[in-house]
Amino acid sequence: MKKNKLMLMAIIAALIVVFFAFDLGRYFTLDFFKSQQAAIDGYVRAGPIQAGLVFFLIYVAVTGLSLPGAAFMTLAAGAVFGLLWGTVIVSFASTLGATLAFLASRFLFQDAIQARFGNNLKAINAGVEKDGAFYLFTLRLVPAFPFFVINLVMGLTPLKTWTFYWVSQTGMLAGTLVYVYAGTEIARIDSLQGILSPGLIISFTLLGLFPLIAKRAVGAIKARKVYAKWPKPASFDRNLVVIGAGSAGLVSAYIAAAVKAKVTLIEKHKMGGDCLNTGCVPSKALIRSAKLLATMKRAKEFGLKSATVEFDFADVMERVQRVVKTVAPHDSIERYTRLGVECITGEAKITSPWTVEVKTADGTRTLSTRAIVIAAGARPFVPPIPGINQVGCLTSDTVWDLRELPKRLVVLGGGPIGCELTQCFARLGSQVTQVEMLPRIMIREDPEISDMVMRQFEKEGVTVLVNHKGKQFKVENGEKILICEHDGKEVRVPFDALLCAVGRIANTSGYGLEELGIPVTKARTVEVNEFMQTLYPNIYACGDVAGPYQFTHTAAHTAWYSAVNALFGRFKKFRADFSVIPWATFTDPEVARVGLNETEAREKNIPYEVTTYGIDDLDRAIADGDAHGVVKVLTVPGKDKILGATIAGEHAGDLLIEFILAMRHGLGLNKILGTIHIYPTLVEANKYAAGVWKKAHTPKELLRWIEKFHAWMRG
Ligand SMILES: Cc1cc2nc3c(=O)[nH]c(=O)nc-3n(C[C@H](O)[C@H](O)[C@H](O)COP(=O)(O)OP(=O)(O)OC[C@H]3O[C@@H](n4cnc5c(N)ncnc54)[C@H](O)[C@@H]3O)c2cc1C
Repeated sequence: MKKNKLMLMAIIAALIVVFFAFDLGRYFTLDFFKSQQAAIDGYVRAGPIQAGLVFFLIYVAVTGLSLPGAAFMTLAAGAVFGLLWGTVIVSFASTLGATLAFLASRFLFQDAIQARFGNNLKAINAGVEKDGAFYLFTLRLVPAFPFFVINLVMGLTPLKTWTFYWVSQTGMLAGTLVYVYAGTEIARIDSLQGILSPGLIISFTLLGLFPLIAKRAVGAIKARKVYAKWPKPASFDRNLVVIGAGSAGLVSAYIAAAVKAKVTLIEKHKMGGDCLNTGCVPSKALIRSAKLLATMKRAKEFGLKSATVEFDFADVMERVQRVVKTVAPHDSIERYTRLGVECITGEAKITSPWTVEVKTADGTRTLSTRAIVIAAGARPFVPPIPGINQVGCLTSDTVWDLRELPKRLVVLGGGPIGCELTQCFARLGSQVTQVEMLPRIMIREDPEISDMVMRQFEKEGVTVLVNHKGKQFKVENGEKILICEHDGKEVRVPFDALLCAVGRIANTSGYGLEELGIPVTKARTVEVNEFMQTLYPNIYACGDVAGPYQFTHTAAHTAWYSAVNALFGRFKKFRADFSVIPWATFTDPEVARVGLNETEAREKNIPYEVTTYGIDDLDRAIADGDAHGVVKVLTVPGKDKILGATIAGEHAGDLLIEFILAMRHGLGLNKILGTIHIYPTLVEANKYAAGVWKKAHTPKELLRWIEKFHAWMRG
């Protein structure tokens, strides 16, 4: 803890100790007040302003330090200053004191609490950010919640100070009035307990709940309003219609069929969507061929005199298609029909919140449904760089049709797709130039991780141009040229083929969103709430079309919430949980991450400790000839709680599972260290990383004593 925090804590603790040690609480009792009332009245009459000020300051101190006595002082204010001035003084003093306690709690503990429980608190934080004023108002009005607890707890949330101040003052006003009024007749009061009758407590509670109920009611009215212009069918043919049979749509339909709902899945193109046809599956198949080639080039390192490879690029690409075909049955119409899903090949359009029109080869049909899941995916973004149409551009949609290896390939984009394909084509023999306008490739990862990948690319003959912004494409004397801007200068890159991998945009037009007025976000994804609901609570969106992540596993994850909420939301709705999201980029070295990395921790101001273990030291990696890479773990300072982990190296995506599991289920590095890992495996790297952490946290003083003990034992 920082020095100034420790000092403040010490001062507060000292004042509290003084209060209790000298039994100052005895001055904050009815009996004491009544016995001294005449003297106090005299003091007030002699100098009412000064007396009011002293009273105000004592009140602020008592409430600011969260000491007992606020309720009594409110009564005393009524007795001494009367209803009007008593209320004014107490209202401001109690709010100021509460705000001081709120600020002290925030200053001393908020960072630590958010760092320790940040993931678990995400939903609460979001709720407080959205509706914090309402919650606070209710808490202030309902007398069951102790005043000082509210101050301290609210300090730990992201509630704004000004909101806390004004809501507290407004919310406490009614209670203040009751107490101050009671104080004007203090002679008749024997105890603090009797002031609030059960009737009054119930009235306050109702008053406190009113804003929340009103808000919910307004929400319900708004929700009804969006449906107002759409005639609702009296009954529905189906429980669920899913648009798009990619990773997200398939999972939604699968879940619906598994729970015996009547579900229809509509796909206009190929079952399996991007992942199967143009994404994960073909890219990983190509990576495998390219890797084999790269390994064979290292034959000598493995003790083989020589290994020559002859290959035809077209054969490699045919193998990629064979892999796609082999996996395709998993996502096929036949399989899903067997599972109980009605599959329709056709183009879907939402025509009302309860109807979907499907254009098929046989004509147009309209299906009525209780709920709709939009899983329409995303497509490659082609930047509007002048001349791009003239030179032609491959994307992740079309690159799989290539049967001739481009001699000189420009890959525009340093993200995961750009990096994976850059390395593949370089390994297959293209002369690849990767162009990225940001300062490094794989910008989401820590700089040294990006650097590790970039150095490997360069070692393999790739020209990596970072800080290069593509400005224009030209054809000069039949040669295609990319003109980039770098450091204010023009850089010319001649090439034969161009592959654009600068991002993917969600498919949000042409299937009814515009007509229904379903909004999209700034990131141009379909806007959904935490339950994956769009503006229409019975229309859900998941996968790439909704974001915020664009992976197959996150598509499946959000699809689960969409399907379950769509089918059972009237009983219980589940908030999509994005607290532990992993991903991997299948370059060599492979890079996989879950949770925070250093760059993000710094940006978010989250305190962390970093532990690294170099995979170059790992027995199995050495035996495999893959002794490179790193395991990098971020933990809460002084604790083994994992905030995030990045692995770069062979099979990083597989190795990371241990950290994903640990984070998901709250297991720390001690638990990983205490788990037997098979020798010799790559996954031992995780255990060794935990070991590095443990070594850095050994109780040195205790070990010194143990050393002495052993010396003594030796005699
Ligand atoms: C080259 C590449 C490599 C990748 N590698 C990985 C990886 O290794 N790991 C990973 O996790 N992710 C990877 N991804 C990302 C992954 O492919 C996507 O995140 C995932 O496919 C998204 O699934 P989805 O269901 O949201 O969308 P999609 O798979 O795009 O499916 C959407 C479907 O909806 C259909 N559709 C759209 N509109 C309509 C309509 N009106 N009517 C009927 N049908 C419609 C489309 O035809 C499409 O089939 C990769 C992507 C690419 C491009």
